[in-house]
This record gives sequence, structure tokens and C-alpha cells, in this order.
Amino acid sequence: MTATSLVHTRAELASVLDLAQGEIAVVMTMGALHEGHRQLIREARKRSEFVLVTIFVNPLQFGPSEDFEKYPRTLEADMAACAAEGVSVVFAPGRDDVYPGGAPAITMHPGPLGEILEGASRPGHFSGMLTVVEKLLMLTRADVAYFGEKDFQQLALIRRMVADLELGVEIVGVPTVREPDGLALSSRNRYLSPDQRRAALALSRALREGAAQTDPEAVLAAAHKILAEEPDVRVDYLSLTGTDLGPAPDEGEARLLVAAKVGTTRLIDNVPLRLQKGA
Ligand code: AMP
Repeated sequence: MTATSLVHTRAELASVLDLAQGEIAVVMTMGALHEGHRQLIREARKRSEFVLVTIFVNPLQFGPSEDFEKYPRTLEADMAACAAEGVSVVFAPGRDDVYPGGAPAITMHPGPLGEILEGASRPGHFSGMLTVVEKLLMLTRADVAYFGEKDFQQLALIRRMVADLELGVEIVGVPTVREPDGLALSSRNRYLSPDQRRAALALSRALREGAAQTDPEAVLAAAHKILAEEPDVRVDYLSLTGTDLGPAPDEGEARLLVAAKVGTTRLIDNVPLRLQKGA
């Protein structure tokens, strides 16, 4: 196994990329790596020899009252995880490496898909996310980039940005990795106390119970029932949509998405399901 290089500046990144052979596969993260991130890396490694992981807590995508300052930063452990997964290069830039002129004057506009669900609750989040994803796709010279279905709306917006702006990068979605009890892995899970973690299980349970139904009304009723039974979960939205996040079809593939706060921690989750009206 060859060692994983760690680079911080865009000049250092350019020098390692000049030496890269074959396709460049990129996994973008905010660090505090867990099995979900590692699954993205494994998928990338299955196909590409050269896998680059970015670790950057992007200030542009956090609202003023969100957790930018306290977001976990665990570079040493992250490097060990990347080395174990055979990552070639980790790019962990500082704020000035990504935004050398300070906050950018020109940023991404996510369009209507960015205004619903997460976009309605987190103004500016998707603009900041898309802006950094576009910059990192360019800086890393990515041929293919891997993103988790855990952030389903984010994945949909990135696909849309790449198509609408002709970015010429392949985007691969990877199914959500869960704890054995169903909780979707997230760097934010470490904020949860043991009691809150127990309460947070209502999210995945609600999605599971919902997805066990096929009639759209029954799906939502089953999921709402589970969430209503858990007083420590404050639901932001529970939404049944099409796979493109448009209106849910009467029949066929759909998506059930939830966002909720447990204590001060905001959690999101979603599952695929098949609908059949009146079934
Ligand atoms: P983050 O570090 O939270 O910004 O996530 C970096 C990437 O990992 C994003 O593409 C996420 O969708 C993905 N990811 C985060 N958690 C999971 C998970 N539990 N399963 C699969 N992918 C995930």
C-alpha cells in the first residue's frame, strides 16, 4: 500500500495532480470521517486507482446560528482512515486556499430545487455548498466525484449543476450507510447524548415504517405516527416526493425524506420506496 499524501495549498495540490495517472476520482467531505465517508471512498477505489479526498469545513454553507465553529475537526484520525482505504491524496485546504480573495462575489444560484426542503430551512446553504463543490471539482480536476444519498437533495442539486453548467464531471450517488439499529451515520451524531441518540432513532424508524406501505397516504400516516410518539424529536419536514424531488407519483419509485431537531442537533434522513395507489 502506498502512503497517502496530505496537501494543504492549491499549489501543492497542483503538483500532486500533475503526477496523477489515469482517472481522478474525488470524494468531498467536511472531515470527521465515518463509515459513510469510507463507503464513498471504497466505491471510488473499486473503479479508480487515484482517489482524492477533500476535507474542508466550508464556512459559506453554514448559517449564522449553525455549528461551523463547533463542527468536529479530526484530521489525524481522518488521515488514518484515508490511508486504510488506499486514498492517494487528501486535500485539506484552509479558508484562504479555497477563497483566496475572501468571500466570492460570484456564487452558485441553486434555482427552484434549492428552495424546498433543506433550502427552505437553511437559507444560503445550497448556494454555499454548490459554490464550494464547483470550486473543488475544478481545483481537483475531477473526472468522477462520489456523493452520498444521505444528502439526497444535495446530490440532486450537484447533478443538476453539473448538467446545467456543462461541468463535464461524472457524478456517482452512493446509498446511505446506517448503524445496525438504523441510525444514518453522520458526523453530527457525535453531538447526541445517549438519550437523544435513542430519540433520533425515530427518524429512521419512521422512514422504514413509511416505506413498508405503498399507498402514498398510508406512507405518510405511518411515518408521522412514529415521529409523533417521540416528544424529543421536533420535526422540520416529512416529505414524500418523486425521485427528482418533484411531486410524488401515484405509482412507481419515490423518496421519503425527513428533517428534525433532537436537542440542538439537526438531523436529516431519507429512503427510496415504491408507491402504488390504493394498495
Ligand atoms: P459531509 O462530510 O457530511 O459533508 O459528507 C461528505 C459526503 O459523505 C457527502 O457526499 C455525504 O452525502 C456523504 N455521507 C455522509 N454520511 C453518509 C452516510 N451515512 N452514508 C453515505 N454517505 C454519507
